[in-house]
Amino acid sequence: VKHVDVLVVGGGHGGAQVAIALRQRKFQGSIAIVGDEPHLPYERPPLSKEYLSGEKPFERILIRPPMFWAERQIDMLLGNRVIAVDPVRHYVRLGSGEAIKYSKLVWAAGGIARQLNCAGHDLEGVHVIRSRADVDSMLRGMECANRVIIVGGGYIGLEAAAALSKCNKKITVVESQDRVLARVAGEPLSRFYEAEHCAHGVDIRLSTGVDCIKGSNGRVVGVQISTGEYVPAELVIVGIGIIPAIEPLRQAGASGDNGVDVDAGCRTNLPGIFAIGDCAAHVSGFAGDTVVRLESVQNATDQAMIVARQLTGEPAVYDAVPWFWSNQYNLRLQTVGLSSGHDQAVLRGHVEERRFSIVYLRRGQVIALDCINSTKDYVEGRALVTRKSVLKASELADSSVSLKSLAERVPIQL
Ligand code: ADP
Repeated sequence: VKHVDVLVVGGGHGGAQVAIALRQRKFQGSIAIVGDEPHLPYERPPLSKEYLSGEKPFERILIRPPMFWAERQIDMLLGNRVIAVDPVRHYVRLGSGEAIKYSKLVWAAGGIARQLNCAGHDLEGVHVIRSRADVDSMLRGMECANRVIIVGGGYIGLEAAAALSKCNKKITVVESQDRVLARVAGEPLSRFYEAEHCAHGVDIRLSTGVDCIKGSNGRVVGVQISTGEYVPAELVIVGIGIIPAIEPLRQAGASGDNGVDVDAGCRTNLPGIFAIGDCAAHVSGFAGDTVVRLESVQNATDQAMIVARQLTGEPAVYDAVPWFWSNQYNLRLQTVGLSSGHDQAVLRGHVEERRFSIVYLRRGQVIALDCINSTKDYVEGRALVTRKSVLKASELADSSVSLKSLAERVPIQL
């Protein structure tokens, strides 16, 4: 049986970064990445943005050039998946039947796009956006599609709406909640995005679900929505979140209700097994010490660094401030902190100028900012979040006063 010192499961942002960071830190042992996709690690955010709209070819979204991995002796086991883990004897079994023994295992398998379960969910022309293959198969049917229905008004759905409206498609977004981005953003931001999409001709249906998808000859022709209406479409995109890809780990005895639980060192409860990225849940000081599972490049990359540091003999704990971005039309959103659980949302700047920030407070403490075309607020606001600054809404609302000067004024609270 083949033996690998550090076996990484998943070739996304987290998995790639573990290997990159280990070699940067002069780790001499053997490293292998098992990835179910046949491609070298690539950036996932462009899939719902520039890759979907055709502005960036695949080569430009690779995380490293192809040579990189071979040069650093990072063994790429692509087109293969781990189907079982033996945490006692330290080996995994691959879908191909092969067994690999490991010294340390890093689970970075991410998530699987959730599908609808209504009738017609598996018709041709119904797509999710999670992998390059998803988008490529969607693009093959794109020319014949004029009308597109997007199910889910999260970032994936809204970014896809923006990218495809650029391509002159007639778009309807169907969102089951009473506002878009309900899971991740405050209400003022939801309302702003709804108006922006509306101005670009995107029809957003809130508090609306999908009853079934109708097809003809196996291909989608429209969607029956919960208002009783029938909306014709040649293409349906489903962006309703992910399910953490953790089944083999769960079978092996890993704990966690929503993904795999990890401690501040990204260790699971299984010896020698770490978990990072979209599939890992941790207690976050930025969420009032509650358990969160973050789906972001930042989280995957920073957790990868924590694992790499420990595997090279340096103690490390994960306490990085969460950040995130989204591009839609000519709006650049940058988020720092976690806004869920806020009891106040303060507007800074001018919505009409499409340049503003929303500062989220919980019991007077700044917990997050959503900044639209306001990189300065984003950069300066980070200090308010990391220092857990307590400020008055009236001070934050005054955009003539910089966040930097506010940050300097407030004593650091630990
Ligand atoms: P993603 O990362 O895919 O955008 P999110 O969880 O952030 O995932 O957003 C998914 C959105 O889809 C949420 O706003 C949620 O309310 C919505 N949603 C989930 N299931 C359905 C459904 N069956 N029909 C319409 N909207 C849905």
